[in-house]
Amino acid sequence: MEENLAKIISVSVAAPRIPLDKVTYFSNRAVSHRDYGLVKIVADGGAEGIGFCYVGTRGGELLPLAVAKLLAPLLIGRDSLDVEALWSELYQEVLLQGRAGIVMRALSILDMALWDLNARSASLPLHKYMGASQADSVAAYASGGYYLDGKTPDDLAAEMAHYVSLGFKAVKLKIGRLSPRDEEDRVRAVRERIGPDIALMMDANNAWKDVIDALQTVRRLEKYSPFFVEEPFSPDDIDSHAALARATSIPVATGEIEAGRWRHKELLDKRAAAVLQSDAAVCGGITEWRRIAAMAAGYAIPMYPHWFHDLHAPLVAATPNARMVECFWDSQVLNFRKLLDRQLDFKDGRLMLHKTPGLGFAFDEEKVRHFAMDPTNVWTKIAS
Ligand SMILES: [Mg+2]
Repeated sequence: MEENLAKIISVSVAAPRIPLDKVTYFSNRAVSHRDYGLVKIVADGGAEGIGFCYVGTRGGELLPLAVAKLLAPLLIGRDSLDVEALWSELYQEVLLQGRAGIVMRALSILDMALWDLNARSASLPLHKYMGASQADSVAAYASGGYYLDGKTPDDLAAEMAHYVSLGFKAVKLKIGRLSPRDEEDRVRAVRERIGPDIALMMDANNAWKDVIDALQTVRRLEKYSPFFVEEPFSPDDIDSHAALARATSIPVATGEIEAGRWRHKELLDKRAAAVLQSDAAVCGGITEWRRIAAMAAGYAIPMYPHWFHDLHAPLVAATPNARMVECFWDSQVLNFRKLLDRQLDFKDGRLMLHKTPGLGFAFDEEKVRHFAMDPTNVWTKIAS
């Protein structure tokens, strides 16, 4: 057998910025556009893998720098199958530059692209490549319930009921922007409309300053039987997560912007989360996400990965303690799907897994060009 069958010959990176159709509000910020980071890794023989992440609402220019200047040069000429060794070398390289945040996101999407490339080279859909040969779909919950100008509790209830009418058995809304009384009005309206049998998740997006502050809203919402309350505090305030978990009957969920297994271990050791929402495009790629999921299994904690359903559907399928993917039904809030050439089909509360190799989709190059922050230099290519 020839050595280096999957020798990496180039890495390309792009930075699109996609405006939202409507300015959308979270507990503590407004969003009018989103920046994304995209990579493509090509091996000799032509096999290609893709990776992608959300970068934030400004500073999307930073991600290509991390890929091009720091990490991609390490990959050129290497065997794409050497995933574990490459992860360690990439991580060694980021030690001084950023073990969380944009540099870790750059590492994450390169790792993702390696998994995609290797699964495509093996002619297997990613979930099968990862060990789930029988799965054909995964459970999904509808994520929405954002704040918009003029949106009433009734409008919110209608939105949630719409998701249920589409077949979702679980829905999520935002909380934490308004007064405790107004938040209760929103949640009551939704619970009354969707009935008692639909799981109702609530995402506070780091809304509250401390446990007393959080309890003013959270205690009012206990009677509506929420499935979990997500990101109540700053992610660094792990002790408050743990204290809130002890003080309310509502399970606490967090982890969407955490990176690395060590930080997740701290969340688990402190009993700060009943649910981990680690995101493979954030936490260190598919390689690190799997390590975190396996560790969480040892603590009997389930995974409900954050955000991109296209990425997480195969991971959830291949992970025994992963339960559901988050799904944004349209592109109002998560507009990343505008960059993809294929969407996952949805049926009866479940997303149908792609049957084609790797992640099962590609970037729509026309759209990548259209949304590129620098239209004169859409893809930066690093090659030997
Ligand atoms: Mg969230």
